[in-house]
Amino acid sequence: MEPAVSEPVRDQVAWTHLTEDIPRAKKCTVIGGSGFLGQHMVEQLLARGYAVNVFDIRQGFDNPQVQFFVGDLCSRQDLYPALKGVNTVFHCASPPPSSNNKELFYRVNYNGTKNVIETCKEAGVQKLILTSTASVIFEGVDIKNGTEDLPYAMKPIDYYTETKILQERVVLGANDPERNFLTTAIRPHGIFGPRDPQLVPILIEAARNGKMKFVIGNGKNLVDFTFVDNVVHGHILAAEQLSHDATLGGKAFHITNDEPIPFWTFLSRILTGLNYEAPKYYIPYWVAYYLALLLSLLVMVVSPVIQLQPTFTPMRVALAGTFHYYSCERAKKAMGYQPLVTMDDAVERTVQSFRHLQRVK
Ligand code: NAD
Repeated sequence: MEPAVSEPVRDQVAWTHLTEDIPRAKKCTVIGGSGFLGQHMVEQLLARGYAVNVFDIRQGFDNPQVQFFVGDLCSRQDLYPALKGVNTVFHCASPPPSSNNKELFYRVNYNGTKNVIETCKEAGVQKLILTSTASVIFEGVDIKNGTEDLPYAMKPIDYYTETKILQERVVLGANDPERNFLTTAIRPHGIFGPRDPQLVPILIEAARNGKMKFVIGNGKNLVDFTFVDNVVHGHILAAEQLSHDATLGGKAFHITNDEPIPFWTFLSRILTGLNYEAPKYYIPYWVAYYLALLLSLLVMVVSPVIQLQPTFTPMRVALAGTFHYYSCERAKKAMGYQPLVTMDDAVERTVQSFRHLQRVK
């Protein structure tokens, strides 16, 4: 029996008319399509002739070409109408990592994703492309050109990553060519670009509050930052290549700019591009790490009396001061991936799009 059908936001008749000539192979749903990556995904899918449903807990934008379904991905009843009749599902929804809410991450990223898989199968979806993260193999120590063969982190850096590991495992495990249900996981790292609500706004806020003065370590640690268009390109390629080569199913793929850059150089380019000063004082990595550890211990000691959420944590120090960049050779070989936008162009386009945040001299 089909679940009760929740009402889509847009007029079903008008939308059906708009998309009736599009073959089922080009019908897709973007779960989390109101988010930063999701909106870019929707734009590129439309540009490539796809009919696009968006499923999200909020309607983040308005576009007459898109059919919106507002609901919670943990609910089969909410989800089913958005998946029925589509060939491909892109799942890029997640609570924000900054929320640090263990229960929410487990509910949405793990249990919710199991619901996505089951509902995809019921609705006859043939391909599920998950947005995972390269951090599923990161434990706070250097990774240089890490491949997908590295094991999942035994000690993930936070609850968000812990549930991204569970999520990826369950999606890849659901790959079932015999039943015509193929799954794959795309692992980006450090997504940035126009309309990013996190990286650039938080960086500028920190600079305005005088908190961007120190480089942790010697400033040479290479990290992947990936332009959003390249991340989208990796997802669409994966979906299209899965149709020709089912052996891609059940696998994870790193998608990066393929131009690792020193963490502090990247931040400094964004800051100076918007007229803020780059950090110029150096603090040795281990000094910063043990200071953050000491602070965490103090927070733990006072926690029965006061609840504090420090931002200067050992894990943040590790993220800012270690090497962590990833090889995308597998994606290049298996699906012909090449980044579409170079780091120079990506930084320039991002800075231009955040001109409203620039410091007026
Ligand atoms: P985002 O917060 O901008 O978008 C996530 C979207 O998911 C939001 O629109 C939100 O409303 C939706 N969502 C959350 N809970 C939901 C629920 N229960 N039901 C339906 N929708 C729900 O995040 P983003 O930066 O665009 O990230 C997209 C994906 O990329 C996530 O899976 C994230 O883990 C992954 N990722 C992001 C980065 C990065 O640097 N931003 C890096 C690696 C991986």
